[in-house]
Amino acid sequence: MDSYLKIWGSRGGVPASGPEFNEMGHATICIELSLPSRTVIFDAGSGIAPLGEHIVSKEQSPPITLLIGHYHVDHLMGLPFFRPIYSDEFQTTCYLPNLVEGSGWKSLDRFFSPPLFPVSLDVLSSTVQFREFNPGENFPLGEDLQCRTMLLEHPGGNTGYRVYNHSVDVTVMTDVENIHPGPFAELVQFAKGTRYLILDSSYSSEQIKTKRGWGHLSVDDVGQIASQLPATTILMIHHDVMKPDAQVKSDAARVLGTYPNLVLCRETESYYF
Ligand SMILES: [Zn+2]
Repeated sequence: MDSYLKIWGSRGGVPASGPEFNEMGHATICIELSLPSRTVIFDAGSGIAPLGEHIVSKEQSPPITLLIGHYHVDHLMGLPFFRPIYSDEFQTTCYLPNLVEGSGWKSLDRFFSPPLFPVSLDVLSSTVQFREFNPGENFPLGEDLQCRTMLLEHPGGNTGYRVYNHSVDVTVMTDVENIHPGPFAELVQFAKGTRYLILDSSYSSEQIKTKRGWGHLSVDDVGQIASQLPATTILMIHHDVMKPDAQVKSDAARVLGTYPNLVLCRETESYYF
């Protein structure tokens, strides 16, 4: 069976509604890395709900590894609607970074609490396991699959993940900002040699002028990274929900035309290794 990446959600902020968003998609961030022996999921935006239905519909599902980057609501909102976590038939391990608020588990627990959501973490299947870690730690994900992590510049922090084995290598940085040159250089170093880099591309050259400190990259930042990682395919993600598809495409056009290793992420699209 082939290994592939599939985009289940590519929007930042809140899910988009309307035909002007059909091409890039409507759901917030969720990416599947499908391997023969494991399903790895990056973030639990609204796109994880249909991914859950897909997993439930299969005759057999390999163990699920869920890697949460941070606890902003656009990256968590789908998790209560991810059916595998309520069923003993599925094995899910959920990795939770300890960020500025401290315990990752407590951050998730706040989200699964009234009045935000009526159901608490206690009702999840006992087959769901949680593992906290500090960004910067590296750990194995089972068999030959390895995971490296780094802390990203984002309000409250976010986690960059690199997951790899002998046949796949993907780096995910959904929300990150270019404020300090040191961390920006580190980010490029972290991703060096990766096959796919899924990268925040929220803002146009114009938007970034008023949005420094909001935690996201501009298309020019993405172009700068693309020039330093020419052998990596960079999938541009976290499309601003205020921007219809036509705007996303025209904002990205200046860098897409310059760097052939850039691709705009579209919901439901798959990328093979
Ligand atoms: Zn976000």
